Amino acid sequence: MYCNHCGSQIADQAAICVKCGVATGRGAIGGDATKSTSRILYVLLGIFLGYFGVHNFVAGYTKNAIIQLVITICTCGIGALGVFIWNVVEICTVTKDANGIPFS
Ligand SMILES: [Zn+2]
Repeated sequence: MYCNHCGSQIADQAAICVKCGVATGRGAIGGDATKSTSRILYVLLGIFLGYFGVHNFVAGYTKNAIIQLVITICTCGIGALGVFIWNVVEICTVTKDANGIPFS
């Protein structure tokens, strides 16, 4: 990955950039904070399983994921069209996970 501050390439698991000493935001609090979400995985899950909010669960956006899951189930799939459009917008605009870590 690359340092948010100076742009140097640093180890994926690094908590602090060795070049400028700025914290990378990883390895801080909680286990999930140490690994970033794959953007490809996010997009694929959003397209194929986005009706159930799976991509949002993976990225840590649990609230949105539950809303999408509930919409799809409670409308017997009719609401999935709306959720699909929502997902397309998310795929195009969301570049970070819920912890603020950019997708890898
Ligand atoms: Zn740096």
